[in-house]
Amino acid sequence: MGLESLLLKLEDNEWPPAKTIAHCHRFSENSAQYGTLKHQLAPQIKHYLLEKHIRLYSHQCDAINAVAEGRNIIITTPTASGKTLCFNVPVFDELAKDPESTALYIYPTKALASDQLKTVEQMENDSGILVHPHRVDGDIPFSARDAIYVESRLVLTNPDMLHRMLEHHGLWERFFSKLRFIVIDEAHTYRGIFGTNVAYLMRRFKRICKYYHSQPTFILSSATISNAVELGETLIDGPLTLIDKDGSPHGEKYFALMKNDPKRSTNQQTIELLAECVKYGCQTICFGGSRKLVGLISKGTVNLLSKEGHPDLMNKVEEYRAGYSPEERARKEKLLKNGDLLGVVSTNALELGIDVGSLDCAILSGYPGSMMSTWQQAGRAGRKNTKSLVFLIAYNNPLEMYYVERPAYFFTRPIEKAVIDLQNTEVRRNHLYCAAYERPINPREDSKYFGSDLESFITDHCSTWLFQNADGIWYYRAKIHEKVSIRGIFEETFSAVASKHFKDPETLTKSQAFREVHEGAIFFHNNEKYLVTKLDLNTRVASLQKVDAPYYTVALATITVDILSEDSMGFGEFELKFGSLAVSTQYDGYMVIRDGGGVNDRHPLNLPLNTIDTKGIWLTITSEIVNEFRKNGGTYIEKALKGIEIITQLTISHFILSDPRDIGVYSGAHPKNPRDFIVAVYDDYKGGIGIAYKLKESLPDLIRLNRDFLERCSCKDGCPACLYHSKRVEKDSVNKNDTVILLSVLEKKMMNRL
Ligand SMILES: [Zn+2]
Repeated sequence: MGLESLLLKLEDNEWPPAKTIAHCHRFSENSAQYGTLKHQLAPQIKHYLLEKHIRLYSHQCDAINAVAEGRNIIITTPTASGKTLCFNVPVFDELAKDPESTALYIYPTKALASDQLKTVEQMENDSGILVHPHRVDGDIPFSARDAIYVESRLVLTNPDMLHRMLEHHGLWERFFSKLRFIVIDEAHTYRGIFGTNVAYLMRRFKRICKYYHSQPTFILSSATISNAVELGETLIDGPLTLIDKDGSPHGEKYFALMKNDPKRSTNQQTIELLAECVKYGCQTICFGGSRKLVGLISKGTVNLLSKEGHPDLMNKVEEYRAGYSPEERARKEKLLKNGDLLGVVSTNALELGIDVGSLDCAILSGYPGSMMSTWQQAGRAGRKNTKSLVFLIAYNNPLEMYYVERPAYFFTRPIEKAVIDLQNTEVRRNHLYCAAYERPINPREDSKYFGSDLESFITDHCSTWLFQNADGIWYYRAKIHEKVSIRGIFEETFSAVASKHFKDPETLTKSQAFREVHEGAIFFHNNEKYLVTKLDLNTRVASLQKVDAPYYTVALATITVDILSEDSMGFGEFELKFGSLAVSTQYDGYMVIRDGGGVNDRHPLNLPLNTIDTKGIWLTITSEIVNEFRKNGGTYIEKALKGIEIITQLTISHFILSDPRDIGVYSGAHPKNPRDFIVAVYDDYKGGIGIAYKLKESLPDLIRLNRDFLERCSCKDGCPACLYHSKRVEKDSVNKNDTVILLSVLEKKMMNRL
C-alpha cells in the first residue's frame, strides 16, 4: 500500500497499466534554499512568521526585497512554491506600518477570490494586523458595500468588477488615494482578447490612481510561460523584475508518459489507472478535458471499484469542476485536505491556484493542450519532502503520440508564449469611452497611458461619441461601462433563452450565434440538449426547447478572404505575407450527426453573410511552387492546400497559447491573383488579437511539424487521428500524400538561403 508500492509496480510488467508506459522520467529532489531580507519587517509580521515557523525561501526573500525597493515584480515559480507569501508578506507589512494604506488583489475568477479571501482573513487573524479584507464582485449586494468603502484596506476582486469600480471611482476615493499595491494573480490568464481588455483596464486604473495621488506597486504572479515579463509589462505598461529562482524544496517526482492502448479508449485507461491509485491508498487528482469527460471518468471509476469488490472505496472518488456552488466546492476541498477523499476528477478549474493541499499522484487524461498546463497540472502532485507520481495518458492523435514517442523532446520543450495585442481598434476605442466617462481625456497628459497617437486615434475613431472643448479636452457623458465586456469585444450580442430552463440567458457573439443557435441546431447547456426553434435576427434572440434527441448538429460555412493591406518577411527563398484581412463567413448549412458518429442528414441554412476585418498571416502558393509540387509527384494542389489548412488547425497550439476559437485557417484561390493560392491563418476576432502575427517567427517550425505529424500517422490516406479530425472535413476533399509533398516543397524553400 502507499506510493512506494505503487512506484514499484511501474516496473512490474504484470501490472496492466505498466504495459502502456512509454517512458518514465525521474526528476530529482531539491532541498530548500533560504534567503535573507534586506529590510526590517513590521514587528507583527516578524512575530507572525516566528509563530508559524515560517522560514522564507530564497525566492520569497527576493520578491519581498524587490518590492521594498519599490520595484514592480512578476513571480513565476512553480505551483506550490509559496507564491502567496511573496505578496502577502510585503502587503501586510506595509499595511501594518501605515494604518491608512490599502491594497487591491485581482483574480481572474470569483471562485479564486473567495478561496484567497480565506487565506487573507486567516493572516489578519494570526498577525493581528487589521485590514478588514473583503471580496467585491457581482455576488456582493450593494447594501454590503458601504462598509467596504469606509473600512476595508484589502479588497479582492476580478477585472469585470474593477471595470465597474472605476465607473464609480468617487465611492472608492479613500481606498484609491491610499492604494499601495495592486496584486494581479494568475496573470497568464490575461491573454488573447481578455488580455487586451485587461491591459487597457490597467491603463485606466493607473490614470485614476494618479488622479487620487497614489502610485501603487504592482505584484504579478503567473504560471511559467516563456514570455512572462513581456506579457506582464504589456499588461501593466511598466517595467517588471522577474522572480523565477525557486527556493522551495521538492521531493522526487516520477513522470510517466503512457501510450494509447489500441484495445481500450483513453477514458477506460484513465478509469482503470485512477482505480489502481485509489486502491493503493494514494491521493490522486485526475484531469479530464471537459465537464462531460470528468463526469464519465468519475462515474466509471466508482463503478469499477464496486465491480472489483471495493464498496468501501466507492465514496472516496468525486468530481470537482466549475458549476458547483461555493459550499459544495468547499465541502469537497475539505474532504480532500482531510484525506477523506482519495480520488478527485477535475476539469482545469483546479489548475488555477485553488488550494487543495498537495497530493501523491496526478493523472492527466490526454495532453492538456499546452506545456504550461501540463506543468501546472503535474504540479498538483508532490509534497515538500515526499515522492510523487504523474501519469500522462496520450490520446490517439498525432500531436499526443508525437510527444509520447519523444520523451527527451517533450520534457525539455519550451513553454508556450502568451500574447496580448494592444492594436485592436475596437477594444481601445471602448476603453477610451470608459476612460472619458471616468475623467475627461487630456491628450497631452493622457497619451502616457493610452499611446502617443492618442489625439489622432480619438479624432479618427472616437469623435462621433466624444466631444472636444476649446482647450482640447475630450468629454463623454453617456453611460457606457455596462455595455463593455472585459472578456470579449463590444459588438451586438445574441442571447439564447429557454423558458423555465435557463437561469440566465446565454450570451453569444454574432458569429457564435450563427454557428451554434441557428434554427434546427442542438445547443448544449449544463449537459442537457436544447433544440433551437427560432433565431430572430431583429431582436437577436434564439428560442430554445429542451429535447431528448439522439443526435447533435454541426454548422457548415463557406469562408472567403480578402486582402486589405499587406507586408512581408522572408524565410530563405520564401516570403511570408501578413496584414489586414476581411474574412467573410457564410453559414449555409448544417449536418445532423448521430451520437455514436455518422452523418444522418444535411440541411440548408439561410443566414446573412458575416464579415469581420482582422489580422492574419498567409502563404502564397505561386505557380512556380505548384510546378515544383508536380515535379515532386504531387497531383491535386487543392487537396494539398486543404490538408495544410486542416493539419495547421491541430498544430497551432504547439506554439502559442490559444483557444481553438481564437484562430481561423483558410485555404483557397488568392483573392488578388486568382492563378495563385493562399493558406491564411487569422485571428477570429474583429480587429485581431495578435495571435496570428505572433506565429510569424514560428512559420518554418510549423511547416516542419505539420509534415512530421502527417508522415508519422500510420494511416494510408488520412484518418480521424490526422486529416479527418473534424467532422467538417468531407471525404476526398484532402489528400495525405499531396499534402506531405507540398509541405516538403515549402520546407525546402524556407531552408534555402539566398
Ligand atoms: Zn492518419
